[in-house]
Amino acid sequence: MVDRHIAWIGLGSNLDDPAGRIRRGVAEIAAAPGIELLAVSPLYRTAPVGGPAEQPMFCNAAAVLATELTPHALLDALQAIEAAHDRVRDVRWGPRTLDLDILAYDERRLDDRDLCIPHPRAHERGFVLAPLADIAPALRLGAHGRVIDCLARVARDDIQLWETSP
Ligand code: ADP
Ligand code: MG
Repeated sequence: MVDRHIAWIGLGSNLDDPAGRIRRGVAEIAAAPGIELLAVSPLYRTAPVGGPAEQPMFCNAAAVLATELTPHALLDALQAIEAAHDRVRDVRWGPRTLDLDILAYDERRLDDRDLCIPHPRAHERGFVLAPLADIAPALRLGAHGRVIDCLARVARDDIQLWETSP
């Protein structure tokens, strides 16, 4: 890898085998050109925030990568993986089966029309912060400060480890 950047990714799914989908998503990210997977958090079971009522529970995780891709090239790679997951659904065009977000990229700040880094809502979302705190507690989310400090400020009631959930 010529240019080596570090990127933190948030993964989410609430359709069609969410945990399996997150695990496959991680494997697909790891296999993508220009990306080296460094670590993955445990999987979490989280309650939906916003969106239509009566949605199924989400599976969320976070991953940290080394990459030679620019932020926009990384977004393209992640969106190609998201799109491949959408295609396996036959008819339903409801919520996406796999959501991949760039939470942070080095200490870069970006405010483009199609890409904001750090992710503008990461600091207030427990379902993003809980897994991210497992792999990057001291990561700073811009002006919002360290991941563990952001996590301490949000509600964690509806966030549990996937494996230990009933
Ligand atoms: P959300 O993740 O907030 O539920 P989407 O996954 O539908 O929303 O994302 C919609 C758009 O958000 C994407 O097409 C992308 O261009 C934009 N976007 C802006 N910043 C980011 C980021 N940091 N990571 C991923 N997508 C982002
Ligand atoms: Mg997204």
